[in-house]
Amino acid sequence: MNERGKSGFILIVVVLAMMMVGVVQADEVSEIEQDIETYQEQKQQKSRETEEANQKLEEIEAKINQAYDEFQELDEEAAKTESDIEETERDKAQTEEEISALQIKIEELEERIAERDKLLKDRVRSMYQANGSLDYVEVILGASNFSDFIERISALHSIAKQDRNLLDEHIDDQKALETAQDELEEAALRLENQIEELADLLEDIEQQLKEKEDIVANLEEQKIDTENFIVSNEEEMAIVESQEAAAKEELEQAKARQQSAQGGSGALQWPTPGRTVTSSYGPRTHPVHGTEGFHYGIDISRNGGTTITAAEEGTVIGARYMSGYGNTILISHAIGNQTVTTLYAHLASIDVKQGQRVSRGEKIGVMGTTGVSTGIHLHFEVHEGGWNGQKSNSVNPLNYLN
Ligand SMILES: [Zn+2]
Repeated sequence: MNERGKSGFILIVVVLAMMMVGVVQADEVSEIEQDIETYQEQKQQKSRETEEANQKLEEIEAKINQAYDEFQELDEEAAKTESDIEETERDKAQTEEEISALQIKIEELEERIAERDKLLKDRVRSMYQANGSLDYVEVILGASNFSDFIERISALHSIAKQDRNLLDEHIDDQKALETAQDELEEAALRLENQIEELADLLEDIEQQLKEKEDIVANLEEQKIDTENFIVSNEEEMAIVESQEAAAKEELEQAKARQQSAQGGSGALQWPTPGRTVTSSYGPRTHPVHGTEGFHYGIDISRNGGTTITAAEEGTVIGARYMSGYGNTILISHAIGNQTVTTLYAHLASIDVKQGQRVSRGEKIGVMGTTGVSTGIHLHFEVHEGGWNGQKSNSVNPLNYLN
């Protein structure tokens, strides 16, 4: 390979390397952008899940409240049934007491009936057996006359009849009492059945209460699970959010790296040793006046040093105090086939004179804060063509700086 071939080859390699740097950084940016998108999707997913869980939680709480209401109703029903049972048991006990009282009366009557029956039988027997087996006949035959005879017979009959009537009355009384007792026993049986039914009802209610308790316990468990899910989901959300914030930071840095790697045309040299831009070219709020405006240059911080050097070889066309700019130097350069003007403002001191030729990188002054300025920095402008009051030729200096 000859010299020309060699340098051509080197140029191609350099250009390819520069292109690759750009490609690699473009990939890094798009990768981070993809990550951010993923985080945003995750966040959306999480907030959907949290929203759903909150809705579920509301539903569970409504169900729990309803279950508690039903629980209370059943509890009241159980208490009422219990008092019904008690009342019925009291009724039954009273009925049983009445039955016992009747039983005693019946027994008394039975005794009286037995006595009366015996008396009647004795009386009849005595009619036949007074002083022997023919007493009745003798009483009748002992009559002195017919009238006496009739009297004797009817006396005997009337005594027997009275006894008979009393006996019949007693028997009627006993029957009535027995009927009353039967009725009371039936009533007692009905009360007993009623108690059994109430007991069944109570058992049923208690079973329902038990079921409700299980339902509530289950719901409470679901509620805790859902609440835990919401909390952990919110914690995960916070992590995703910080990951997203970190990725955004990385993206800014990657973009800045890409920007600086792409750089400007390299036609101009940085006018300060430090290359920290504190305010970029473009629209901004004025740091002193607070008005919306346009920043026609870049501000470079004092970090790295305060020596100001010429960005390119050229002729000093201005070196004086200017309104707003403070101590200012303007240099005209020929770059390619056009004129480019650079401007250095707010200088502490000016080391060159108007009309002077300066070389690239030559010291021309010292950084300061003269004019309208908030602190020591260099305000640096680049104009394609000459400088004018409207700054209509201004361009972003970064397009030219290497
Ligand atoms: Zn500025």
